[in-house]
Amino acid sequence: SSRDDSSTVSGRVRVAVRLRPPNAEEMEADADFADCLELQPELKRLKLRKNNWDSDTYEFDEVLTEFASQKRVYEVVAKPVVEMHLSPFNADRISLPVCFSWLGNWEVVLNEHLTVCLMTFLDPATAKCSVLDGYNGTVMAYGQTGTGKTYTLGRLGEEDTSARGIMLRAMEDILAQVSRENDLVSVSYFQLYMETIQDLLDPANDSISIVEDPKNGDVSLPGATLVEIRDHKSFVELLKLGESHRFAANTKLNTESSRSHAILMVHIKRSVKGRNSSLTSENGNMSLMGKTLKPPVVRKSKLVLVDLAGSERINKSGSEGHTLEEAKSINLSLSALGKCINALAENSAHVPIRDSKLTRLLRDSFGGTARTSLIITIGPSPRHRGETSSTITFGQRAM
Ligand code: ADP
Ligand code: MG
Repeated sequence: SSRDDSSTVSGRVRVAVRLRPPNAEEMEADADFADCLELQPELKRLKLRKNNWDSDTYEFDEVLTEFASQKRVYEVVAKPVVEMHLSPFNADRISLPVCFSWLGNWEVVLNEHLTVCLMTFLDPATAKCSVLDGYNGTVMAYGQTGTGKTYTLGRLGEEDTSARGIMLRAMEDILAQVSRENDLVSVSYFQLYMETIQDLLDPANDSISIVEDPKNGDVSLPGATLVEIRDHKSFVELLKLGESHRFAANTKLNTESSRSHAILMVHIKRSVKGRNSSLTSENGNMSLMGKTLKPPVVRKSKLVLVDLAGSERINKSGSEGHTLEEAKSINLSLSALGKCINALAENSAHVPIRDSKLTRLLRDSFGGTARTSLIITIGPSPRHRGETSSTITFGQRAM
């Protein structure tokens, strides 16, 4: 489908692929694994070998090699959803040509603040559409178990902050932007297992339901534990607590985390002092926009981070310890998700959102005005070529 950048704003899903480095076992077993996959990050291409003389080539929005840092992954995958960059040097390419064609050669003398104001003025829809601007957003990790979904999203990196995953980096950016007095950041954290929702912040709570507002389609989860986040440290503690509850719940059910979807929802409530007050520069100079100030309004948005269940085709016999019911349930939700993402990619009027709880949960957080990023994770081993190929196909169909 179209590779038009402007569609990133209108609902097209941004898709990145990330390759996990080989682990010790793979190093030993598949000395020549490099032959199976070839990544060309600068061309945003990935080649998957079909046989000795032929390979398939795929294009993505980003191709992240085994050397890509967690920081870079956050910046290309999640940052555009959380907080859009608006400096003249790194603003999305969508806005800049508009801005430059208006300004002729004058952009050189413009400061960042003014450029931002002009961009917003010219096209509010392009300049402001991230979670911190009041729009909903979703970042999802999809891939076979063991390819790095949790590493990418949920890594705590306590011993080494550079190893932190998307959840922590997103919260860091959010906390840095919101105001302590006027804004509220809270999170809920749960897992979806066999179409039931389990609260990871309160294991005793089994009364979470999904409710859609018939008026505006907003999805809420009455009954879910909501914890206000004031600083980064308490968020780390909360994630750890959620992780331990996830482990306990899965042990009790005699299952593995790879068979459930873990979903972190960050709710942001901002009180905005006027249409463009978020553009106030550091020194409070609002001369350009001074005339447009309006009384405060409250903007609500949410960021949904989804660590999906392993996408591997599950052996129906259950010989690998999966029950048939688990297999059916994972297949149901992942294929429902795939159908919805395809419908978005194709601008289809019918998005089959009702097919699973996973897609019902995401109803107001992808498509429409929401920004969505999908990161597909793959491993390097030729043994899993089949799974790698089907993961790539899932990613391609989203574009
Ligand atoms: P998944 O959640 O998809 O099942 P994990 O995130 O648990 O996979 O990753 C499986 C293993 O690979 C873990 O030991 C993890 O630390 C390691 N790993 C995954 N991605 C990377 C990476 N990019 N760099 C280094 N190690 C990684
Ligand atoms: Mg995992």
